[in-house]
Amino acid sequence: MSGKDVTEVRLADAVGIAAAARCLESGGLVAVPTETVYGLAARADSAEAVARIYAAKGRPDFNPLIVHVAGLAQAEHYAIISPEARALAEAHWPGPLTLVLPRRPDAALAAAVTAGLPTVALRAPAHPAMRALLESVAFPLAAPSANRSGFISPTTAAHVLASLDGRIDMVLDGGATRAGVESTIVAVRADGTVEELRPGPLAIGSQSGGGAIEAPGQLASHYAPGKPVRLNAAEAEPDEFHIGFGAVAGDITLSESGDVAEAAARLYAALHEAARAPQPRIAVAPVPEEGVGRAINDRLRRAAA
Ligand code: AMP
Ligand code: MG
Repeated sequence: MSGKDVTEVRLADAVGIAAAARCLESGGLVAVPTETVYGLAARADSAEAVARIYAAKGRPDFNPLIVHVAGLAQAEHYAIISPEARALAEAHWPGPLTLVLPRRPDAALAAAVTAGLPTVALRAPAHPAMRALLESVAFPLAAPSANRSGFISPTTAAHVLASLDGRIDMVLDGGATRAGVESTIVAVRADGTVEELRPGPLAIGSQSGGGAIEAPGQLASHYAPGKPVRLNAAEAEPDEFHIGFGAVAGDITLSESGDVAEAAARLYAALHEAARAPQPRIAVAPVPEEGVGRAINDRLRRAAA
């Protein structure tokens, strides 16, 4: 914070985006809606600004950040783009796909962004507010999810404030995010092979499931609501708040019709509600391992770990 403890909330309209751009230029922290979750953005070329992301979140410094760019042309300044990587970016950008690529030696990025790795994670997001912001500044934006490290990711401006009020300069309020779970992350190797490091809204290439070493931030415990979470629960105990899916009604439901995309969009709001509920424990109905259901189950396993 630049000497103040107040987090300004602005609508994600042209006036708000212009204010956010000025804040970022002077090294500030702004939470911005993306199509996945709200990101906590800072200019990626400034060591001071990036250090403030880690401090505000309480994020371990071995967990690298995703760098958000306007598109492929900007990405070329920071990574070596192989033909395979180019094809993926052309097919899925702007969108919820993060590419882990060899970092260019001359990349003008704060060292902390990549946590000492020879690679860099790049994404061109699709949300109109984030796109407008990226178009109006002259640098890329490092942006992890806008929550205290390890806790539930934010899908509304209120979720951001619940965890970071007073610790960041501004929130751009663009309503609830659509995809609801963080981007799919894939590494594109020198030989052109593609490995999934984190499941997300998009299904891409091979499914390794073993990305723990390659993606240092993929900690076993993450997205934690602060109480015990029990998975695959068709029925709940009396002291459990029950999150339903499909035929399992629950106290609230991720999707009454059993739609995994709807469930992904509601997942973090449901975990926030469960965290606030009087019951000391949380039970979650089974969610099928299909489509974005893989990403939901990945996040639920970490919430339960
Ligand atoms: P978050 O921004 O909180 O969604 O986390 C970003 C994730 O991107 C982290 O969990 C990292 O595992 C992953 N990541 C970022 N940069 C790299 C990289 N260079 N190599 C592998 N994984 C990365
Ligand atoms: Mg996160």
